[in-house]
Amino acid sequence: MTSVSEFLTTHEGALRSGVFLGLLILLLALERLRPRREQHVSARHFASNLAFGVLNALILRVALPGGLVLLAIGFQTAYPTIGLMVWLDLPKGLAFLVCLVLLDLLLYWQHRLFHQIEFFWKFHSAHHGDRNLNVSSGVRFHPGEALISLVVKALAIVALGVPAAAIILFEVLLSAAALFNHANWSLGRLDGVLQKLIVTPDMHRLHHSRLESESRKNYGFFLSGWDYLFGSYKNQPDTPHKNIALGLEDMPEDGFAPTLQRPFKPSLPKS
Ligand SMILES: [Zn+2]
Ligand SMILES: [Zn+2]
Repeated sequence: MTSVSEFLTTHEGALRSGVFLGLLILLLALERLRPRREQHVSARHFASNLAFGVLNALILRVALPGGLVLLAIGFQTAYPTIGLMVWLDLPKGLAFLVCLVLLDLLLYWQHRLFHQIEFFWKFHSAHHGDRNLNVSSGVRFHPGEALISLVVKALAIVALGVPAAAIILFEVLLSAAALFNHANWSLGRLDGVLQKLIVTPDMHRLHHSRLESESRKNYGFFLSGWDYLFGSYKNQPDTPHKNIALGLEDMPEDGFAPTLQRPFKPSLPKS
C-alpha cells in the first residue's frame, strides 16, 4: 500500500495529464470507429468544450493553488486527530477504498442537488446545453459549478481525512470517468453488462435527454450502484439512443460565450 501511495504522490502530474490525454485520444478514435449516434461535432464546438476544461483548470489553480492534495496534507499535519478515517482507525488499504467509495457517493448527491436546487441548476445547465454529446463534453462544466464542486470536495476531504494518494486516484478516476461517460462510442452489449457496476456512455446519455423524466435519472458518476440504491436508475430511454433529443429546449446556442453568461441571465426552466 505504501508503495502505491508513494507512486501516486510522486507521479501525480504525469499520471493526471497522461491518463487524460491518452484517454482523450483513445476515445476520439473509438468515437470514429464505432459511433453510437450519427452526429457531426465541429472543430469549433470541440474547441469550445475544451476551452471550459482549460479555463476551469486555471481558475481552480488560482482558487486553491496547491490543489486538494496539499490542502489535505496541510490540514492533516495541523490537526492529526481530526477526520472520520482517524477515528475509525481502519487498515490503510481499507481506508483508501472507503474514501474512494464515499467521495463517489458525495458526487452522486452533489449532481442530484445540482438538478434540484435552482441556483445550482443555473450553473449545471451549462453542461446540459451540449447538443452533440461527445468525449469533449466531459470537460464542459461552467466555472461556477467547478468552484462549488471544489468547495464541496475540500470540505469532504477534510471531514473524512482522505489520504493524499486516495485524492490523487479519485481525481484521476474523476476525469477518466467524465471522458468515458460522455463518449459517443457504441460498446454494444458490453454497455449493459458494465452498467451493473459502473456508469457507461449509454447510461449517462439518457441523463442528457431533454425529457425531465430522463434527465432526472442516472446521476451516478463512477459507480452505478447509487442510482439503483436511491431509485434514480433508468435502463433505457423512451426513444432509441440514436434519436434522443439532447441539449436544452431554451438553449439553442451552445457556444463558449453564451454558455458562460447563461447563469447570470434571468430565470431558467428547471430540469
Ligand atoms: Zn446533470
Ligand atoms: Zn454529463
